[in-house]
Amino acid sequence: MPIATVNPATGETLRTFDALGPDEIERRLALAVTAFQKHRTTEFGERAELLDRAASLLEEDQHSIARTMTTEMGKPITAARAEAAKCAKAMHWYAAHAERLLADENPSTVDVRDSGASRASVHYRPLGVVLAVMPWNFPLWQVVRFAAPALMAGNVGLLKHASNVPQTALYLEELFRRAGYPEGCFQTLLIGSGAVEGVLRDRRVAAATLTGSEPAGRSVAAIAGDEVKKTVLELGGSDPFVVMSSADIERAAQTAVTARVQNNGQSCIAAKRFIVHADVYEDFCERFTAGMRKLTVGDPMQDSTDIGPLSTAQGRADLEELVDDALRLGATARCGAQRPEKFDQGWYYEPTVLVDVKPEMRIHHEEAFGPVATVYRVADVDEAVSLANDTPFGLSSNVWTRDDAEVSRFTRDLEAGGVFFNGMTASHPALPFGGVKRSGYGRELSGHGIREFCNITTVWHGAEPSASR
Ligand code: NAP
Repeated sequence: MPIATVNPATGETLRTFDALGPDEIERRLALAVTAFQKHRTTEFGERAELLDRAASLLEEDQHSIARTMTTEMGKPITAARAEAAKCAKAMHWYAAHAERLLADENPSTVDVRDSGASRASVHYRPLGVVLAVMPWNFPLWQVVRFAAPALMAGNVGLLKHASNVPQTALYLEELFRRAGYPEGCFQTLLIGSGAVEGVLRDRRVAAATLTGSEPAGRSVAAIAGDEVKKTVLELGGSDPFVVMSSADIERAAQTAVTARVQNNGQSCIAAKRFIVHADVYEDFCERFTAGMRKLTVGDPMQDSTDIGPLSTAQGRADLEELVDDALRLGATARCGAQRPEKFDQGWYYEPTVLVDVKPEMRIHHEEAFGPVATVYRVADVDEAVSLANDTPFGLSSNVWTRDDAEVSRFTRDLEAGGVFFNGMTASHPALPFGGVKRSGYGRELSGHGIREFCNITTVWHGAEPSASR
């Protein structure tokens, strides 16, 4: 994939970039190591000042960087501005809380006495240079939710961003530099995915985090495994959105629309499979379909737009294949299932609701990365749980119910990294984020996220010799 800004609303290539050559990659790796040696010894207060400054600069840049993101990957401009604001908030949050989250732990001397210790403590020390391989769909947020905790923990970052968001990637490097971070603390490597292996195998790189597709995750994890390096993987999702008969159907249907089409439907935690109790199935379907029909598909630079184009021509072609396969095997489209007629350019796709979906259809097991929802009818809670778990993925889940017994049941049995009741899944700095099964492993955000790239160090002191001889 060429490293280039191609506007998804027009298909026009606006700027291309040369990939870094081996000498420049080597120079940047050496810079990263030098920066780490200094950064690891800084105090939390100093790190917090730098991160707060970066957050404030991002707040000032909110409008311009939002335009860059929308130009590069097509998200509605209002969502792009919100993404920039969310990043600044998370940076301030980690600046304020990292010291507490990484405070030394002091197990009670009673607990450790039989190890021969007079006292012991646990310290969270940084790992070193961390490689971040990141996707285009939230081109700021995916990076910031790695970078903010990593830098606060004393690590340094190397970003290999998706090839279609190079200007956002370069902006991030520049942002941290302008905030005053020493050279080498956060660098963007403009490289193709083929160059990731060499960087990851380099002995100076301690660990890697990847957010993206399953094939990319598998490749990075295999290489890191071969090198015995720590990884965190945030991969795809096909989150269930369960609506039980006690739910507030109007609120559930309205939220379902947002949960499915956020970011033009290209979000890992978008609700993708809607699993509805038979008693409220028709009511929900009607309201949900009406909501999807009402959305404004159009120029992502307009504030009034709900859904812009998909980010790449390939992304739209993949989505069309999934929908066509389902229709061929007997699914019914309640709306959409086609390109909007009003555009003669750009990678637009109409918001789509599919019913009569069966397990033999690809869309039943694969991730639909665009504004396409599948709706299923279930008879009871057992069937709802079983269908919700009938997926290779396990990122998050959403359940609408007012029944306490059902709340307990879904909390216990859903195979996912999150269960969100009477609302939609969203990431938040104070809450852990990540999945199980093919959605990956490890967690981002909260205390769990910041500790992923730490060397959890046991410090043990033997019994003190007696002072008097
Ligand atoms: P992608 O093709 O896997 O790309 C993600 C990143 O991985 C890009 O930087 C890409 O570089 C790189 N990459 C691709 N193949 C690679 C390989 N073999 N070795 C090393 N690096 C490789 O994914 P995408 O299409 O951009 O993103 C969509 C996917 O990401 C969806 O499945 C979505 O659910 C998932 N996602 C997950 C989360 C989460 O938190 N769980 C969040 C957002 C997105 P190039 O661009 O140069 O190919």
